[in-house]
Amino acid sequence: MLCSAGASEVLVEGMKLVSATKTARTTEVCFVLLGQFNNGICHAKLSWRRSGSHASVQFDGNRVLEREERYGDVVGFYHTHPDGFVQPSDRDVRTMGAWSFSFGKPLICAIGTSAGVQAWLFEPGADSEEQCARAAKFSGNWFVASLR
Ligand SMILES: [Zn+2]
Repeated sequence: MLCSAGASEVLVEGMKLVSATKTARTTEVCFVLLGQFNNGICHAKLSWRRSGSHASVQFDGNRVLEREERYGDVVGFYHTHPDGFVQPSDRDVRTMGAWSFSFGKPLICAIGTSAGVQAWLFEPGADSEEQCARAAKFSGNWFVASLR
């Protein structure tokens, strides 16, 4: 009986994994990027994962604000586009512009799809964002983007 119960638990755990993977593919996920800029390179840890709906995801704005006030290490945001389009949406542009302006510093908007990661730099008060030359996500939730 114990063996059988154990096998059934494994099966249930396996099903949970499958269902979690399906969810990750069809809903947007976002992280706050905590790190630093140095010599045109952004190095950050993807932190505080949150998931949302198919087309949008919200992060905890108050927590981000408190973190920035206390440590000054919020360098941007990473989120996924489950449909795969690799451009910031109009909402992304408005949101990033507002955060960059309110922090008074440049912020990275990184977008992940099944094809990889792209990133844009939003300067406070700038008319348009600048695409980073290269961006990549590494195991352990590390993120690097090169501006040039
Ligand atoms: Zn987006």
